[in-house]
Amino acid sequence: MNDLQKRTWAEISLDNIKHNYEAIRSDIPSGCRFLGVVKADAYGHGAMRVASLLQACGADYLAVSCLDEALELRDGGITMPILILGHTPWQYTGCLIENSLTQTVTNLAKAEEYSAEAAKLGRELLIHIKVDTGMSRLGFLCDGSLSEKGIENIARSCSLPGLHPEGIYTHFAVSDEPGEENRSYTERQFSLFLHVVEELQQRYGIVFPLRHCANSGAVVNYPEMALDMVRPGLLLYGYGDENRPLNLKPCMRFVTTVSTIKHYEPGTFISYGRKYETTRKTRVGVLALGYADGLPRAASGKCSFATPWGMAPQIGTVCMDMCMADLTDLYEAEVGTEVELFGEHADIHALAEAAGTIPYELLCSVTKRVPRVYK
Ligand SMILES: *Cc1c(COP(=O)(O)O)cnc(C)c1O
Repeated sequence: MNDLQKRTWAEISLDNIKHNYEAIRSDIPSGCRFLGVVKADAYGHGAMRVASLLQACGADYLAVSCLDEALELRDGGITMPILILGHTPWQYTGCLIENSLTQTVTNLAKAEEYSAEAAKLGRELLIHIKVDTGMSRLGFLCDGSLSEKGIENIARSCSLPGLHPEGIYTHFAVSDEPGEENRSYTERQFSLFLHVVEELQQRYGIVFPLRHCANSGAVVNYPEMALDMVRPGLLLYGYGDENRPLNLKPCMRFVTTVSTIKHYEPGTFISYGRKYETTRKTRVGVLALGYADGLPRAASGKCSFATPWGMAPQIGTVCMDMCMADLTDLYEAEVGTEVELFGEHADIHALAEAAGTIPYELLCSVTKRVPRVYK
C-alpha cells in the first residue's frame, strides 16, 4: 500500500497464523487430523492467503460454509480436501464432484437428491454426515424418540449409490462457555454423538474414517473429544484460549489514522445526535474509521484506540466513515498518527464487550473497503 493512501487497513500476520497452527497442532494428540476453518474469508483474514498457508504447513482439511467459498479456493489453486459445512443445492452435485469437494449431508432427503444426481453422472460424491446432538441447527436428529429413526436414516444415506461417506461430525453449542451446566450439556452432546457412531458400526457395519466434533471451545476445554480430527476456527486467528492458554497470538491488527485534529471549548457537542458534550478544552482527533469499515456503531462512546502513548477514548456517535477520539491527554498524537482498534495493543474483547458482541463478529465485520496488508 502506498504510504500516502494510508487511511484504514487490516494488518495480517501470516507468521502468527502459522504460529497458532503449530501451537494447536502440538496440543492435540499425535495422529489427530487438523481441519482449519476458513469460512467467511477466513474470519476476515483472507481465505486464499490463509488456505495457502495451511496447505503449506501440512494441515489435513479445510472447511468453508458454502460452494462459492470452496470454489474461490479451488480456483486459487488449493488442492487439499475441503469440507462444505452448509447446504449446497443438489443441482450442484456435478460441480462438487468435479472440484473434489466434500459435502455435508444433513438429512435423508438431501442424501437421496445428491445420490440420484451423482449416480446419473456415474460419479461419486464425498460426504460427511452431520448429526444434530443439541445445537438444533443442521443435522440428523438422533435424540430421544428420534434415536432409532435418525440412526436408520443415516445408515440409509450412507448406503445410497453415488455417495462416499468419509466422515461424520457434530457441532457443540456451549463448548466455549464456562460453568457446570454447559459442561454437562457438552458432555451429553458428545456421548450422544459417540452412541450414534457406535450404533452405526454395530448395527450396520458402517465405519467412518473421520469422526470429528471439536471446535475451538472443545479443543481448549475438552481435549479428550478430539477424536480423528479437530475443527478449530477462532483459535487459528489467535483468540478463544483464555480458559487454557495455548500461547496463541492475534493475527489481525485493525489500524486507522488521525485525519484531522480539532480543539473545542467545553460545552461543545461532538458528532451525530449530540450524544457527547465536551467538559473541558478538548483536543479531538477525527479518525478515518467508521461503521462502514467495521467499527460497530453500538460501540459509540464505549471503546478506545491504542496509540503509542496510551489509550484514546472514542467519543460521540460512530459515523459511517469516521469517528472521533479524545486526544487531549495524548499531546504527541498528530495528523497521520496510526491508532489501533484491536490487535496487538488493543484487546478485541474490550471492543466486543462495548459493542455487545463477540470477537468472531468483529473479525468478520471488517469490510471489503479495508485493504488487507500481509506481513
Ligand atoms: C464455524 C464452525 C467451526 C469453527 O468454530 P470455532 O468456534 O471458530 O472454532 C467448526 N465447526 C462448524 C460446523 C462450524 O460451523
